[in-house]
Amino acid sequence: MKRSNVRELVEAGEKNKFYWRAEWMVELRPSALERDHYECQRCNHNWDSEQYPNKRKKTLTIAKTVHHIYSVEKYPEYAKELWNLVSLCYRCHNEVEGRAWFKFKEYKKKPQINDERW
Ligand SMILES: [Zn+2]
Repeated sequence: MKRSNVRELVEAGEKNKFYWRAEWMVELRPSALERDHYECQRCNHNWDSEQYPNKRKKTLTIAKTVHHIYSVEKYPEYAKELWNLVSLCYRCHNEVEGRAWFKFKEYKKKPQINDERW
């Protein structure tokens, strides 16, 4: 399997190529998901926090993405370290990445017909 030099990819502005390499797709990503039992580590953490001592965990959020704790751009040397990877659900990943999750929620609301319109 070809080993990619992540720093070179980042410097060339081709960071995303790393995510399509077999190294990531068949090694690192599945290893992180298996280690985390395919559960979102952020949701689990929230549920277990002392803030909600009476809340029982009913379902676990399935993790679909693997996040780099230390970003690939700033820390390419950690891009392949399992300790730097954490399994997250889409929602948590968006929140962690600072993407606008609320826009997605708004989008989902759109098709609803509200009574006031009629
Ligand atoms: Zn989550």
